[in-house]
Amino acid sequence: MKKLTKITLITFISLAITGASFTWWQISTQLSDNKPCLFCNHQILETHRFYEDNLVMGLCNHKPIQPGHCMAVTKRHIERFDEITNEEFLAIGRLLKKTNLAVQKIYGPSAYIIHQKNGAAVGQTVPHVHFHYIPKKKTKHKKIAIFGLLWSFVANIFKSPISMSKLRENVILMKRELTHL
Ligand SMILES: [Zn+2]
Repeated sequence: MKKLTKITLITFISLAITGASFTWWQISTQLSDNKPCLFCNHQILETHRFYEDNLVMGLCNHKPIQPGHCMAVTKRHIERFDEITNEEFLAIGRLLKKTNLAVQKIYGPSAYIIHQKNGAAVGQTVPHVHFHYIPKKKTKHKKIAIFGLLWSFVANIFKSPISMSKLRENVILMKRELTHL
């Protein structure tokens, strides 16, 4: 193995371990502090929400892994996927499809991930059921695109949240696109 490849690999593994430890520390702190739920907090919802119906809400992420990172959450405070009703599940599905169409128009990603966690042991930091929609920017190097996305997950742990004005801008963009769907 070339020296540069070794150094890159060691750096990546070290950052991944540090990132995992930091995430665990964040989860432990949140659990021990017994903080109120972020997705039931009216102030948070007012600034992050781009969609709302009687069952679900669409929120822009304040610390996006990639531009266009959004979340679909239930309006009811429930913690896990198995607690959602069939109606809420359909509403979440409809919202994720709309979110995808809007993000495609605004950011033009080449691919996207939808993921959902259940329990602190698998990294759920907010104990209120939510689905992440994470688009992937277009890249020239398709074969290494997956490493770029993995890197975004690790690097995101060390990033600061985006400014309130940028968040407001993202919410307005999403609201505007959703009115055309
Ligand atoms: Zn909640």
